[in-house]
Amino acid sequence: MSSTGAGAWTNWARTVTSEPTAVVHPRSAAEVAEIVRTAAAQGQRVKPVGAGHSFTAIAQTDGVLLRMDQIAGIQHVDHATGHVRVGAGTRLHDLNPALLAHGLALPNMGDVDPQTMSGATATGTHGTGAKLTGIAGAIAALEIVTGDGTIVEVTSDDKDLFGAARVGLGALGIVTAITFACVPAFLLHAREEPMRLPEVLDGLDALVDDNDHFEFYWFPHTDCALLKRNNRVPEGTVRAPLSKARFLLDDEVLSNGGFEIVNRVGRLRPSWIPRLNAFSGGLLSAREYTDWSHEVFVSPRRVRFREMEYAIPRAHLPEVLRAIDGWVNASGEQISFPIEVRFAAPDDIWLSTGYERENAYVAVHMYHRSDHRRYFEGIEAIFGEHEGRPHWGKMHTLDADALRTRYPRFDDFRAVRDRLDPQRTFTNSYLDRVLG
Ligand SMILES: Cc1cc2nc3c(=O)[nH]c(=O)nc-3n(C[C@H](O)[C@H](O)[C@H](O)COP(=O)(O)OP(=O)(O)OC[C@H]3O[C@@H](n4cnc5c(N)ncnc54)[C@H](O)[C@@H]3O)c2cc1C
Repeated sequence: MSSTGAGAWTNWARTVTSEPTAVVHPRSAAEVAEIVRTAAAQGQRVKPVGAGHSFTAIAQTDGVLLRMDQIAGIQHVDHATGHVRVGAGTRLHDLNPALLAHGLALPNMGDVDPQTMSGATATGTHGTGAKLTGIAGAIAALEIVTGDGTIVEVTSDDKDLFGAARVGLGALGIVTAITFACVPAFLLHAREEPMRLPEVLDGLDALVDDNDHFEFYWFPHTDCALLKRNNRVPEGTVRAPLSKARFLLDDEVLSNGGFEIVNRVGRLRPSWIPRLNAFSGGLLSAREYTDWSHEVFVSPRRVRFREMEYAIPRAHLPEVLRAIDGWVNASGEQISFPIEVRFAAPDDIWLSTGYERENAYVAVHMYHRSDHRRYFEGIEAIFGEHEGRPHWGKMHTLDADALRTRYPRFDDFRAVRDRLDPQRTFTNSYLDRVLG
């Protein structure tokens, strides 16, 4: 294993910094076990960090920081079952092309790909699709190093460990390998177009249920929305990706370079934001293309922001959006970022936002140079009135008492934690808050 200087660590959103005592790059589960045993004997904490793409302090540490970059890549492919075992530090952007080379893909994913597989699954990262769960729903097995340095292979044979560990918040141990149930590689036809929000809400059920992956962005202060419908294509369909020029114009110039300028201007002149939003909404034009699933799911995100996202029961969505609209209008806050709305199927993972519930996901964002607190506080109160479950990696203020009321298996998770990490070698202040 190698160690690097223990400089300060900060996350992508610049909301959290850490001063670890050491940064270590283990190469195997055995090395991880040795690190955990040594740290536990010295009363030190250990925290694996992925790509730092969580907005919360879930990855913060004042102990030993583990970088899992030496435990990465595909370790085994079972072509008969589609099960693929990967090192925990594998990045999504490395995994997707590697899977494609085997004719395989993840069933679903979110909208960026720098995350590690262990980091993404630990916080319940999800994409959109009413018949599909978050990424952790595709986990068939996990290898974990527990608080006493034991290496455990977790499968569905152990209902409790499997229920708890797939979305483990980094609280149960260090994940060293994950086996995913992959699907044959598939092309998606992407159709993106603007639509008025009332029209979206009128036809919502059909839009959600009749598309494999449906989501929309709503521009606050306006009734402009941008819809994204991604659907699997019939066998034999030819790949027709976006032209480089169109990608550069839409995804780089308008969504990133131009959007950064809109946000800088909006910060200096907040009263212009409603007109800027209407202008940005008006620039959106329809486009269609067909590409490999991971190319369609992922978009570049170069404008830095803060984000809060809650899962709410799907049926509550129209009421929640009306309440958000009401709050934004009454508050006088000027919101330059569109609100993102996605959908996912229920799962059986204890601390997954999707636990036994069909959800809509509502995500609010704020440009990183602006103060997000009043906006997020106002909207979080609305989510609270609708049984909202916060994304573990995105900003929220809930503590264990509040979370217990939103997760039926909350105390069962805590019991597994007591068993796997009785000394709390893997804890930090965020976990102390959310798990108690
Ligand atoms: C621009 C951007 C876009 C995003 N888009 C989406 C999206 O579309 N959908 C969505 O749901 N989320 C999204 N997120 C949130 C993101 O997917 C999650 O926060 C995810 O956890 C980040 O993965 P990471 O590798 O950066 O993990 P980190 O943030 O580094 O760590 C997250 C947690 O995982 C733990 N962890 C990491 N490795 C291990 C390990 N080996 N064993 C045990 N625990 C481990 C860490 O200790 C920590 O507790 C986005 C975030 C950003 C910044």
